[in-house]
Amino acid sequence: MLEKVLIANRGEIALRILRACKELNIKTVAVHSVADKDLMHVRLADESVCIGPPSPTESYLNIPSIISAMEVTDADAVHPGYGFLAENADFAEQVDNSGFVFIGPTSETIRLMGDKVSAIAVMRDAGVPTVPGSNGPLDDNKDRTLSLAKEIGYPVIIKAAAGGGGRGMRVVHNEAALLKAVYVTQTEAKSFFGNGVVYLEKFLENPRHVEIQVIGDGQGEAIHLGDRDCSLQRRHQKVLEEAPAPGISDKARAGVAETCIQACKNLKYRGVGTLEFLYEAESFYFIEMNTRVQVEHPVTEMVTGIDIVKEQLRIASGESLSVAQSDIKIKGHSFECRINAEDPTTFLPCPGRVNLFHAPGGNGIRVDSHLYSGYSVPPHYDSLIAKLISYGDTREQALMRMQNALDELLIDGIRSNIPLQRDLVRDAEFQKGGVNIHYLEHKLGS
Ligand code: ADP
Repeated sequence: MLEKVLIANRGEIALRILRACKELNIKTVAVHSVADKDLMHVRLADESVCIGPPSPTESYLNIPSIISAMEVTDADAVHPGYGFLAENADFAEQVDNSGFVFIGPTSETIRLMGDKVSAIAVMRDAGVPTVPGSNGPLDDNKDRTLSLAKEIGYPVIIKAAAGGGGRGMRVVHNEAALLKAVYVTQTEAKSFFGNGVVYLEKFLENPRHVEIQVIGDGQGEAIHLGDRDCSLQRRHQKVLEEAPAPGISDKARAGVAETCIQACKNLKYRGVGTLEFLYEAESFYFIEMNTRVQVEHPVTEMVTGIDIVKEQLRIASGESLSVAQSDIKIKGHSFECRINAEDPTTFLPCPGRVNLFHAPGGNGIRVDSHLYSGYSVPPHYDSLIAKLISYGDTREQALMRMQNALDELLIDGIRSNIPLQRDLVRDAEFQKGGVNIHYLEHKLGS
């Protein structure tokens, strides 16, 4: 087993990783920016190193500083969490070349999945259902592009191969707008991502977002931990997630999960990952793979009993998977509400001092948060301050527990989206289950 892990992240996920390390008797090193010296996990870690000024580019994204911190503290491995360097293939490669363990897939896999065109090709080869589209980059042949779009049928979407975070996409409703949209997306992609490659897909009008959690041992063995529904989104940011995805037949979900496992086996996938799908009219369509732990991983942990971060640490230590597919049973239902330090109506970030933090509790409630009374939320980073997770034997029970937990939760001193979450868990359509990815924005009138 690894002996000492450096946690190259901050906030709730850094604390989550620290807890998993402690359970496995692994020593921890926290790295933090000047603005983050008061973070909960920095106080709890065995060692801590300040790696730079508040700006992420000078601290959490500063590869030489992080590798130096590993050298100075004699850490064996680095856990990148999510965001920051988690899907940076160059970082994974440099960690490896410096003789340390990167807790995640190989840099080759990260690179392959980071390019959506190559990711789709790998998935199609394994039999994973994908969106009808160009199955490769669009070239300079305008006639070919026009006839392809006609064949697929409008609306279509032009997407950057290197796109991410909901950027580098453009929906096209008719032939007259197609070629200009391709050109503009290529130009934007070149300046945003340094890679102008774009491809074309059918634009699905009312899909849900359903994703499948996978784990591979890096030797060709892989399992899945079922699915999650993350359709409640605003500006492509997930707000409230649940597992399992409601209203999907066992046959449909088992079929697609089987193809995901095949893809991971083909890749000799190492570590945890998520295949994201759009789900419409009872069909799944792969859109991308995330090669890291996700914010919403706890809902899967609640319904499977598997500690996903501990699995990551075990696999990085060279161990095989702790469970076989036949051991995985999805039991009960779980929700996660993301609590953000933001104005509930304008959604503008609201950093500042938390005068009082009171976490809810009771049967089936889990709170993943780095907050404590007196903590100041810095203005430099993502506004996620807590994840409220509920579990129940049934969806109704998990939802009822979440309603109660949201009523108990107190964060005084800064504004947060708690009022929005309280409203969402009482929303009649959401309660029925199966709303699509536009539901929240329509509800908010944006
Ligand atoms: P990113 O890496 O930027 O998150 P994705 O490929 O995951 O990009 O797409 C982000 C979001 O864009 C999806 O969750 C969905 O809302 C929308 N989207 C992407 N592709 C399609 C499509 N073919 N049809 C409809 N919506 C799409």
